[in-house]
Amino acid sequence: MYTGDHIAISATLAAIASRRFSLNYVTLATCMILANLVDLDHLFYFHLDDGTANSLLLHPLHIYSGILVFACGVFALIKKEKAMFSFLIGFAIATHMCADSLAHFLHYNYTSLFIYDMLELVLMFFVFKKCVCYGSHLKLFSFMVAQDILITFAQWLSLIQWEPQKEIFVYILPNILLVIATSLFWLIFKSKIEMHHSRT
Ligand SMILES: [Zn+2]
Repeated sequence: MYTGDHIAISATLAAIASRRFSLNYVTLATCMILANLVDLDHLFYFHLDDGTANSLLLHPLHIYSGILVFACGVFALIKKEKAMFSFLIGFAIATHMCADSLAHFLHYNYTSLFIYDMLELVLMFFVFKKCVCYGSHLKLFSFMVAQDILITFAQWLSLIQWEPQKEIFVYILPNILLVIATSLFWLIFKSKIEMHHSRT
């Protein structure tokens, strides 16, 4: 899956979770989005990857991601007050793997991914509309859509412009953009977004 989509889906799931478990949205979303930095391991085997490879068979952090999810579970058992937070970071890693599996299943077909993108944006809109009570959900939604389009486009452009097996930059770029987008999100929205808290 493209980096912009990973960010959008992490931000959406963080909104549901922060509402359900009364957690700070911006902190949780920042950590869940940064969990997608597992894509840094594309750097190890970039010479084997044409941009459509099955990461779960090729890239070490993806292959051993089960250990990361397990570590989050163990940390949750040790630090009771951080249990939910830690489980959710593990959930973000598991979601990343799920999205990569789906993208490979769809053969990274642009039309299929576009349909997936549209469904994801509709879901994100309704989740933000339902969950965000203080601070404009439209502003948050617009920010996430803008970063999704910009990062996905930059990644797609780098894949078709350079030979992915020769240019490690193709895989460095999305991670740099992920960190920049997350930092901007944190700076713009910290203390500005509050969630409706679930009563159950
Ligand atoms: Zn990945």
